[in-house]
Amino acid sequence: MVTVTFDKVRKEFGTMVALPGLDLAIGSGEFVSLLGPSGCGKTTTLRMLAGLEQPTSGRILIGDRPVNNLAPGERDIAMVFQSYALYPHMTVAQNIAYPLRKRGVPKAERPARVKAVADLLQLGPLLERKPRQLSGGQQQRVALGRALVREPKVFLLDEPLSNLDAQLRAHMRAELIELHRRLGKTMVYVTHDQLEAMTMSTRIAVMRGGELQQFATPAEIYHRPANAFVAGFIGTPAMTLADGEIAAGQGRAMLKLGTLQMELPPDHLSQAPTGVLPVTVGVRPEDVVLGAGDGQASIRVVEPTGHESIVLANAGDVVFTVRVPGDSPLRPGDTVPFDLRRERLHIFERASGRRLN
Ligand code: ATP
Repeated sequence: MVTVTFDKVRKEFGTMVALPGLDLAIGSGEFVSLLGPSGCGKTTTLRMLAGLEQPTSGRILIGDRPVNNLAPGERDIAMVFQSYALYPHMTVAQNIAYPLRKRGVPKAERPARVKAVADLLQLGPLLERKPRQLSGGQQQRVALGRALVREPKVFLLDEPLSNLDAQLRAHMRAELIELHRRLGKTMVYVTHDQLEAMTMSTRIAVMRGGELQQFATPAEIYHRPANAFVAGFIGTPAMTLADGEIAAGQGRAMLKLGTLQMELPPDHLSQAPTGVLPVTVGVRPEDVVLGAGDGQASIRVVEPTGHESIVLANAGDVVFTVRVPGDSPLRPGDTVPFDLRRERLHIFERASGRRLN
């Protein structure tokens, strides 16, 4: 069991700064996802950890050991990529045994280690097949097996599920969760799929433009996003973000959102505000109430997804995204009472995006 530490790691490509200075401390046995939009530096971070890319400055440690000067093969890591090229002419067993052969593990030892991995991944009945006789999910499991067989200290996975169809992805997600639970190894997982990150990770590192935005558990990231970017990026459908103002006085804080006005619950903000403060307010789709309250909303769009419908509703001059049960009778054009769960509002300073509550 080992930790992984990025200590002020900077990466430049020529004049382009991909990562200005990353500090990230991953605990032993964690499953950490690096999550963020395209180009935010996820893959570069993983490749530096793997030794495939050299940091411009800063230190990377695996356990207590600085690894900057170690070749990939000396780092005790295994990496699984999006394209998991298996050797087509080799059987599943030979594919899994290949890293052992390459590393000079004695021939007599190999079958037992291949069998252990095959049992773990339920590949036993497939060992004599060739890759072309396997489904996409089975091939991906063989690729995992090939990484596992070396018994590395740390596992790196770069969008390993992105070539699979939706159903298989869901299945492999469950398998990876189970695998992590059983092995207890430190895993670092790159994805731009928030569902993968939310379901599998012990903690998620949300990145943007090379900068770490938040490093926290999936629940914290969902319920207490550190800034307006994380708030808008995490959650499907996305939360409504609207510009507003907080006017403070006499121990009360009034929130103005377009033509909507409401008092915030006492102590909703971490610091008592003074004067008028420009803010961005975030409202999750499940925190809008339709059918009760003093306000009024008009229904614009109803998108049924089965067990629930996603509704766009106008209130004041803000368009809110709202989650309602699938059997809701709401129709476009309806006017209904409206309220917000005020204690669940996310409030960010408008200029910096920083969370204020
Ligand atoms: P994606 O989800 O699209 O794979 P990412 O978050 O993994 O994106 P990186 O691949 O780490 O992003 O890239 C981070 C930034 O560094 C991007 O702006 C990219 O264009 C740049 N970059 C990455 N590799 C190189 C390279 N070899 N030469 C120049 N620029 C690079």
